[in-house]
Amino acid sequence: MTSVELNPSVFEKSYQREDWQRGYNSLAQEFDYWIDEIDGEIPADLKGTLFRNGPGLLDVNGNPIHHPFDGDGMICAIAFQNGRAHFRNRFVKTEGYLAEQAAGKILYRGVFGTDKPGGWLANLLDFRLKNIANTNVVYWGGKLRALWEAAEPHALDPRTLETLGLDTLDGVLKPGDAFAAHPRIDPGCAADGDACLVNFSIKPGLSSTITLYEFAPDGKLLQKYAHSTPGFAFIHDFAITPHYCIFFQNPVTFNPLNFLAGTRSAAECIQFHPDKPTKIVLIPRRGAADKAAHQTTPHAQVHTFETLSGFVFHHANAFEEGDEVVIDSVCYEDLPAVEPEGDFRQTDFDAIAPGHLWRFRVNLQTGTVDRQLLEDRCCEFPVVHPAKVGRAYRYAYLGAAHAPTGNAPLQAVIKVDTHSGDRLLWSAAPWGYVGEPIFVPRSPSPDSEPSAEDDGWVLVMVFDSSRDRSSLFILDAHDLSQIARLHLKHHVPYGLHGSFTSECFA
Ligand code: FE
Repeated sequence: MTSVELNPSVFEKSYQREDWQRGYNSLAQEFDYWIDEIDGEIPADLKGTLFRNGPGLLDVNGNPIHHPFDGDGMICAIAFQNGRAHFRNRFVKTEGYLAEQAAGKILYRGVFGTDKPGGWLANLLDFRLKNIANTNVVYWGGKLRALWEAAEPHALDPRTLETLGLDTLDGVLKPGDAFAAHPRIDPGCAADGDACLVNFSIKPGLSSTITLYEFAPDGKLLQKYAHSTPGFAFIHDFAITPHYCIFFQNPVTFNPLNFLAGTRSAAECIQFHPDKPTKIVLIPRRGAADKAAHQTTPHAQVHTFETLSGFVFHHANAFEEGDEVVIDSVCYEDLPAVEPEGDFRQTDFDAIAPGHLWRFRVNLQTGTVDRQLLEDRCCEFPVVHPAKVGRAYRYAYLGAAHAPTGNAPLQAVIKVDTHSGDRLLWSAAPWGYVGEPIFVPRSPSPDSEPSAEDDGWVLVMVFDSSRDRSSLFILDAHDLSQIARLHLKHHVPYGLHGSFTSECFA
């Protein structure tokens, strides 16, 4: 195995917690401007729009929220055209955001521990969910939608980012229905080779129902199907292959008593059981192309496996290989509890388990699960080439810690070569803190050979703690060298997820 570190100059502790904390200051202001402070040059053939979502407000009128996951969703759009880039950010004008901004105070209990003022009495028996629309943003079927997994999406104007309102996906969802924040785009789902967007919703309970939705490129519903799995399910992400939707049912239980009493948020009532197995559930896809062909094959059945895996939020990818299905996922030994008295800004990174990239091989014939550590550097937010989703692939890109061992804030981007074991690291330490990397393939010219899997760019937002401003970096996905740095005029609080579309909404 070889490892190349392009910026290995920081060997001691690569971060200061006080620096990292400032990336969690609110950004209340909304901007529109052409980015004019640029190091390097924006590639002329980088065309399209990067959308990203994340909590924009970490306080309501000076009253701090308890956890970033309770922060109001704010969308950033960076549109690339002719070597220029335009920045815009807008809050998702959810019912809760508008009401709290008008009132100047917190009106809703947050899922992750934010309480209304007034103690437990004020929070007793208040089960209203604030749909904060803060987790992901995806452009599909001509519509831009902000996603939050416990409720329906918000539709946005892709040009102005103006909020258009709650969205039922043309009547597919009923008011209040959940819709996960981690859709997967299958690059060749239908018989005609068209892509489709696959997403799910969870109805947790003593038995949990997973409902799957598949949508055509024009946004029309192609398939809807459901499967019930015994036990409570807290599932944030999933993976797909041509024949399966894959879920990791982590070993957690939910005790609602303190939630009902108003003394604990919903997330604070979730308990992780590291001694209990994780269930891996493979639900057969009802894709049009498979329907007829595979009714009598193993692909027609639900398969359930058990493994001691720890907790998984995010999957990098999955693919089928003979009798096996391979799933690459970021795993934690433990799920850090959300503590009622805790302050996320005081996180002691050394005291909590880092995420690592693991490979799971489930065997459909023998029912066994093999697991192998792919990357033991602390990492999160995995992404692969969009044409490789659900297919055998070579390269994964992740946000990573600067140091090779231990837990720390994400300050680097790591490229994992799953074939050779080689690694590349681009690090912004000690001043920079990174978000989710987004891989954008270079569009091959019509007469050229199919391009390599790593022919493209990695776009990553970095909080520069030396200036309290953020920058978007454009890296060459082949060698992770820096192509350009786009300096924003302000900071952007640490985000969650985003996506890239080749349409330019400048
Ligand atoms: Fe996520």
